[in-house]
Amino acid sequence: ASTPLLIDGKAAAARVLAEVGREVIALKDAGLAPALAVVLVGQDPASQVYVRNKVLRAEECGIRSLEHKLPADTAEADLLALIHTLNGDDSVHGILVQLPLPGHIDESRVLQAVSPLKDVDGFHAENVGGLSQGRDVLTPCTPAGCLRLLQDTCGNLTGKHAVVIGRSNIVGKPMAALLLKAHCTVTVVHSRSANLKELCRQADIVVAAVGRPRLVDAEWLKPGAVVIDVGINRIEEDGRSKLVGDVDFDSALAHAAAITPVPGGVGPMTIAFLMKNTLAAARLQHPAAGLP
Ligand code: NDP
Repeated sequence: ASTPLLIDGKAAAARVLAEVGREVIALKDAGLAPALAVVLVGQDPASQVYVRNKVLRAEECGIRSLEHKLPADTAEADLLALIHTLNGDDSVHGILVQLPLPGHIDESRVLQAVSPLKDVDGFHAENVGGLSQGRDVLTPCTPAGCLRLLQDTCGNLTGKHAVVIGRSNIVGKPMAALLLKAHCTVTVVHSRSANLKELCRQADIVVAAVGRPRLVDAEWLKPGAVVIDVGINRIEEDGRSKLVGDVDFDSALAHAAAITPVPGGVGPMTIAFLMKNTLAAARLQHPAAGLP
């Protein structure tokens, strides 16, 4: 077998960010300065890192960012009030509420409060419904990034059999909807699926979004499969802590035609697509701005 292609998410993300940066300049020339509000409740260390990275990337492509850091004991009503204020603020185009929220806050109520036009995470029911109808709506960033990696790697996806492992609202389900829209034959498997490995072995494309370190190995893969590893799992190994995906990378190399590494695969694309969505949201709110 030939050496598998390593899908470089960092390079792909840099291309997307450069594209966004150019479009931001054009929009600013037309009098519209895209802005993203990031809301963080509490002090979860991982969430703090994610928010910092999102703010940095926004600045790099010329998108104004506004951080709203609220204490962990913030009442749900106060968070909802902030979201309503941001919904009504014409100078804010995207609103991102960093998840997870503290346990006393109803996550779905908060996500539903974000205006669908400013919903850069694509989690509002109106956007979820729109995606499932195959419309062009604000779409969750991680699966949108995975789709771009697949298109860059495979070209046309029509007729390919894609197996998505995982059915979460954040990754698995929107990934399946996007692949269907790209004319793939889609199978979604999850923790209650029978014959997981056999189903996976039929796939031209495998997207693993499970949260189980190295679950998928060469035995799960048809020779020539393209593998997108969404998983980010911290494990202790050889006396140190490291990040690994849902795919056993070294083993998968035996069968995969192309594969994303962890880190450096899907992760950078998620943030790049957040910027792309912020730009799209600004356009949705000002349809006439920046048109040639
Ligand atoms: P969830 O925990 O919400 O969903 C996991 C899914 O995997 C569920 O549908 C679950 O099934 C399924 N599952 C769990 N165990 C198994 C198993 N043994 N066999 C088959 N299916 C199984 O996770 P997320 O979708 O939010 O995230 C998945 C992974 O992706 C995590 O590692 C997360 O850290 C990472 N992630 C990475 C991002 C990035 O930017 N790179 C962004 C978002 C997530 P069931 O529904 O039956 O419980």
